[in-house]
Amino acid sequence: MKYCDLHCDALTASGKKQVTKARLEAGDCLLQCFAAFVEEGGFSRFSSLADKFDDLVKNEGYHRVLYASDVKENAVNALLSCEGGAWESIEELRGLYARGVRMAGFVWNTPTAAGYPNFPDYQGLCAGRISPSVREEKRGLTPFGHESAELMAQLGIIPDVSHGSDALFWEIAQKKRPFVASHSNAASVQNWARNLTDEQIAAVADCGGVIGLNFCADFLSDDGSAAGQRTAILAHVRAILNAGGEDVLAVGSDFDGIPENAYLPDPSCMPSFFETLVDEFGPRIAEKAARDNFLRVLRDVVGDK
Ligand SMILES: [Zn+2]
Repeated sequence: MKYCDLHCDALTASGKKQVTKARLEAGDCLLQCFAAFVEEGGFSRFSSLADKFDDLVKNEGYHRVLYASDVKENAVNALLSCEGGAWESIEELRGLYARGVRMAGFVWNTPTAAGYPNFPDYQGLCAGRISPSVREEKRGLTPFGHESAELMAQLGIIPDVSHGSDALFWEIAQKKRPFVASHSNAASVQNWARNLTDEQIAAVADCGGVIGLNFCADFLSDDGSAAGQRTAILAHVRAILNAGGEDVLAVGSDFDGIPENAYLPDPSCMPSFFETLVDEFGPRIAEKAARDNFLRVLRDVVGDK
């Protein structure tokens, strides 16, 4: 089954990679989002990752997507996204669009000019000292973050709240435009700050957005075994469908940003994952999760040329 994956970290992965063109082809991938992850270095770091993306597209024969109408059936389509502090001014946000970014997260695990992350004590979290189930509820978008969200809507960049605080999430949801949580799961199944509550899942659905299932073992379950992860991801699917309906589910593997998942180690395992979704939830829901839901957001936000 052809599928879209809303998030991977292949652009910043070092050493052995989970995402390769051969594995995406083996997995029947239609569209892979490649995140330019910027922890430090701002726009100039982003630019070097955008160069890397350009090289990847050219050297490995991906089909670049700048508009919804660019998506080509018999190709592995590649869309550039960003995560973290990739921009600190409106000019730089325009620069991201000019370089091809069509989906942008406001933060990673540390605050940026645009907003605050999921965890109140991000320094403690990065040092591995606090429980990641503690959620940041008060600090959301900065005034610059709000300004950025308005420009994203004008230009056609999909806002991504996956690492955003709860306050940031609700500020984006209140704008009543489609947005995504590109790589997050259901907090009702695994209580983790990176996962979404049922109310948040319903809000993404109400705005016409999608949530990409994240394959990070810790976000799915305390049981990291292949069988435990399989059971858990189906529970997350069920929880997202129950809270948000069948138009909100998508995939955001986080490949190359996570340790290898025992059940879903790399893109070549996707056909068997979607077979399982067909068996458990039927072909219509599986197709929507695999491709239709995200392609709808791409059409609604990015649009055609
Ligand atoms: Zn991430």
